[in-house]
Amino acid sequence: METDVLAENRHLADHNRYTLRGAGVRSVDVMGTTGAGKTALIIKLSKIIMERGLRVGVIAGDVTGQDDYDRFQEAGVKAFNLNTGKECHLDANLVDKALDSIDLLDLDFLFVENVGNLVCPADFPLGTDSRLVVISVTEGDDMVRKHPMIFQDADIAVFNKMDLAEYMGVDVERVKDDYRKLTGGKDLMPTSVRTGDGIRELVGRLLD
Ligand code: MG
Ligand code: ZN
Repeated sequence: METDVLAENRHLADHNRYTLRGAGVRSVDVMGTTGAGKTALIIKLSKIIMERGLRVGVIAGDVTGQDDYDRFQEAGVKAFNLNTGKECHLDANLVDKALDSIDLLDLDFLFVENVGNLVCPADFPLGTDSRLVVISVTEGDDMVRKHPMIFQDADIAVFNKMDLAEYMGVDVERVKDDYRKLTGGKDLMPTSVRTGDGIRELVGRLLD
């Protein structure tokens, strides 16, 4: 049963990838816990990408409500609200339906903000070009060790709210080291939306 669900999701993810690439839209699935700063980070990245002349949209995924959707709209980022109802993660079927209501020819880049969760999104690829996982220093320094699956699965991992690292007493090098060992040498990207540190490097990775 579970295998069927995951296989069906992979099939629909392939379909979404075909749709997005066919429309010339680059896309990234942004995963991470509630409170890691996904929404603020996406707003910051969107503004820089828009300054470079690209048209950006965001699918705001949440279990219920439209708080993130409102934040995107208020910040001037074109957003589409996507509620899961009760599921704690987005899946390719939900994204497929959302894409049906979006004029993809109006977009060059699409962020998909996943539901705040570091567990099941790893099992449900959405068909985006890449997957980004966001953790923040306010969650401590053991997140990579506690959630190896999602860090192995993601193409890019961000350590956000670095401006609070010293205040939180977080051992940043330890987290970087955990990630390096888990992924066979990849570098965790430190960012701070408040100071802007690491943001341009991250845009570079996304547009690479
Ligand atoms: Mg959010
Ligand atoms: Zn879930």
